[in-house]
Amino acid sequence: MVYLRDRDEIEAIRSAALLVGQTLVMLGREIKPGITTGELDRLAETFIRDHGARPAFKGYRGFPASICPSVNDEVVHAIPGRYRLREGDIIGIDVGVEKNGYYGDAARTFPVGEVDDDVERLLRVTREALLLGVAQAKAGNRIGDISHAVQSHAELSGYSVVRALVGHGIGREMHEEPQVPNFGSPDRGPRLMVGQVLAIEPMINAGSPDVMTRADGWTVVTKDGSLSAHFEHTVAVGAQGPEILSDPGQG
Ligand code: MG
Repeated sequence: MVYLRDRDEIEAIRSAALLVGQTLVMLGREIKPGITTGELDRLAETFIRDHGARPAFKGYRGFPASICPSVNDEVVHAIPGRYRLREGDIIGIDVGVEKNGYYGDAARTFPVGEVDDDVERLLRVTREALLLGVAQAKAGNRIGDISHAVQSHAELSGYSVVRALVGHGIGREMHEEPQVPNFGSPDRGPRLMVGQVLAIEPMINAGSPDVMTRADGWTVVTKDGSLSAHFEHTVAVGAQGPEILSDPGQG
């Protein structure tokens, strides 16, 4: 079932999604060599609760924390803990919140201190792929237009797209229909309509697209140990075009 949200509902989702974006900005200021992923998780949970919302990941299918901090070859769904960030790492932070019954979801991959130029490029291309996908989230387009925009930018840049995990509709639940793959053909898949809200989230690997899950049952890593980056926005299909709901406008 695909839901079309009215203006009030879009604003409620925006309120949740903006808080996610603000949480990412706050965490971005704390990310430096020496801080642990567990400390980042506690900062995020406090920040979200102080803003009248609930960390949506906590307890989701038994997930134990408020953020997914995925370092280097970790793609997504990593569990925060005692890992201490090191100069040259990259860390993808995925955050979801529920506020007044509506959900927001966004992610961003940060460099830790100084990173190599090729690592910086992976982050830049993944973020560009997200924005190119977002630009296709227009009424009358199809899901495949988003998928294709993401995939072609990643692959033409020499990277690969994770296929095992996809973006999703979002609103009254964190994961709603439709699925939003980061690979596919233009003009294929469900047609987009004004009022749909999507979480678009390319996961781009420097090496092969293959991933596996670690023994903890959560952490998804690249099979070949290559780096992986993840950027995500909550986006409304608006009458005037795509509207990013999770961008707090502070970088
Ligand atoms: Mg998501």
